[in-house]
Amino acid sequence: MHQGARVAFHTLGCKLNYSETATLARHLQQKGMTVVPFEDAADIYVLNTCSVTDNAEKECRQWVRRLRRRQPQARIVVTGCYAQLQPQQIAAMGVDLVLGMAEKFQLADYLSTLSEGPTSPVVSCGRSDRLTEFHHSFSLGERTRSFLKIQDGCNYHCSFCTIPLARGESRSPTIAEVVQQALALQQAGAQEVVLTGVNVGDFGIINGKRKAHLLNLLEALEQQTQIPRFRISSVEPNLLTDELIDFLAGSCRFMPHLHLPLQSGSDRILASMRRRYKAAFYADRVEKLKSSIPHCCIGADVITGFPGETDEDFEQTYTLLRDLPVDYLHVFTYSERPNTEALRYGEVIPIPVRKQRTHVLRSLSDRKRRLFYAAQLGKVRPVLFEHGCTENGLPAGYTDNYVYVSAAEGRAGSVLPVLLERLNDSVVHGTVLHDFTESRISAIDPLLASH
Ligand code: SF4
Repeated sequence: MHQGARVAFHTLGCKLNYSETATLARHLQQKGMTVVPFEDAADIYVLNTCSVTDNAEKECRQWVRRLRRRQPQARIVVTGCYAQLQPQQIAAMGVDLVLGMAEKFQLADYLSTLSEGPTSPVVSCGRSDRLTEFHHSFSLGERTRSFLKIQDGCNYHCSFCTIPLARGESRSPTIAEVVQQALALQQAGAQEVVLTGVNVGDFGIINGKRKAHLLNLLEALEQQTQIPRFRISSVEPNLLTDELIDFLAGSCRFMPHLHLPLQSGSDRILASMRRRYKAAFYADRVEKLKSSIPHCCIGADVITGFPGETDEDFEQTYTLLRDLPVDYLHVFTYSERPNTEALRYGEVIPIPVRKQRTHVLRSLSDRKRRLFYAAQLGKVRPVLFEHGCTENGLPAGYTDNYVYVSAAEGRAGSVLPVLLERLNDSVVHGTVLHDFTESRISAIDPLLASH
């Protein structure tokens, strides 16, 4: 494809994919191509796909069909986890280029080999067990919040999960490399950096050998950079050590917000999922986190309808989450994934039962989030107002502890103290306190003053 070609990207799935899409877009811009919004007419459309659920794959197929109708002459490229796992299935949908996980980082080279006019699809997808290289990636949306990839792949092999099949073994860059990238983001004006990966808590494996731990990285980032805010996207419960919690409790730049995947509250189901903890251990981690950082926001992933999940198992999940100080849930309905161990399990749960359980947990999540938001009213918290983020026309953004806030005098790209006043559906309205001082912080919220 020629210089000046218009390229549009669409990302499905996780923050890691977003950081990689942003990196691919920058590569193509450096080669003289123009990146345009996905809604616009483009010469090339790139879909960076996900394979976590059946729905994510379905969405990719729908996009291919829509793009073919909308822009019949355009080239369609599909890459990401779905492309890595099902390259031939995707090629058969009438796309031009299918690139696996390693090949996607040579997108520009592959595009240059595409000739004009109709051609048969080019498929380039190496074996997942040969995915050993770490490709640095980050996004930097309007210089506000950046997603920085610090880890890839996973060695855990949970019985429902395709990610290790699509992304290979756990691997990381060195601490020095991450710090260097963070300094570049700082230079570019990033106000918040979210550390992302497949299994972030497993940071530190290089060429199959453990060279460092996540805590070492966090300490280095705090000491060697001045980025105002860091956030950790998610940590497996078994990797959330007391030392990590103590570090977060004592840090003023690592935000009091953590996502801890649970998946099920039944020990029987956790064992059959091949998760590395029991429900009581998970509860202990949540309690420890909340007692060390009382204003911390905690999120959890849950899967409903895993094979063999009885009403009693589901009840255990519901009760555990209802009673624990977990503040919101990401609920996934189990879907059969090719080549996973769980596919061989009997006791398949009927789809309507899975959906009903998802509905119940999503309602619980709404209630919990509202309770957490309501508990923050009357407090003053620092809000990072984001570019392009508005609520009823007012600037909006997130507090340190992940409350979504709008305030009339918010300024995109700035962290400002906001008095949280009213809860409206899923947003808290507040007032920016321009004359806010340390002494007033202590008077209103001593915990904030210590953070
Ligand atoms: S920890 Fe389990 S669920 Fe998470 S990516 Fe690894 S295998 Fe998948």
